[in-house]
Amino acid sequence: MGERWFYRSDEEWISIAEQLKNTPCPHCHARGTLNRHGVLYGFDNTNDSNSQQRTLRARRILCSKRRQSRPGCGRTFSIWLAHKIRRFSLSTRTLLTFLQHAVVGTIANACKAVNHPRSERTFQRIWKRFDHTQIRIRTALLGRGPPPESSAASARRPEATQVLDHLQASFPNTDCPSQSLRWAAKAAVEDA
Ligand SMILES: [Zn+2]
Repeated sequence: MGERWFYRSDEEWISIAEQLKNTPCPHCHARGTLNRHGVLYGFDNTNDSNSQQRTLRARRILCSKRRQSRPGCGRTFSIWLAHKIRRFSLSTRTLLTFLQHAVVGTIANACKAVNHPRSERTFQRIWKRFDHTQIRIRTALLGRGPPPESSAASARRPEATQVLDHLQASFPNTDCPSQSLRWAAKAAVEDA
C-alpha cells in the first residue's frame, strides 16, 4: 500500500481503517499490530478566519506491543486529513501561494498576495520556520530525486526558490499542493 499518511474524505478514512490489520507499521513494519488510537483536533481558518473552531486534523494510530504473538513497537503515528497543516493553522493552498510569493518578493507583498486576515507577524513566523528547515527539506528531497534545472539564481531568495521548485518537481502528478506540502511539513516541521 506504500506510504499513506493522508486521507481526503470519510470514505478514504474508513477504507484505511478497515485495512489497518493488513497494513505494516511504518516504524517496525510488523503487520496486524496497528490500532486506532484517538484523534487530534486543532484550530484552523478553513471555514471562517475569525472563528476559532476546533476541527479534526488527524487520526492517531498505535502499533500495539500487547496481546500479539509477534508484538509491535508501541509507537504511534498520525494519518492526516490532506488539507490540514498542523502548527501553521493554514490551508495548504494558502501556504503554497504565500511561499511562492515570499521566495521572489517581500513577506509583506506575499501577505497581500494571499489576502489572508492573519497578521503579517504570523506570516513572518511561518517564513522563518520554512527558512530554518530549508536544509532539512532539501536533504529529504534529495532522497527522492535530483533537483530540477532551475532559473532560481536570479530570484530574490535563490535557495528557498530552489527548495520550492524541487518540492513541486518531486510531486509532479498532484495538481493539488496538499500532498507535497504535507510531506514537506512532515519532513521539516512536524518532526522538528
Ligand atoms: Zn511498530
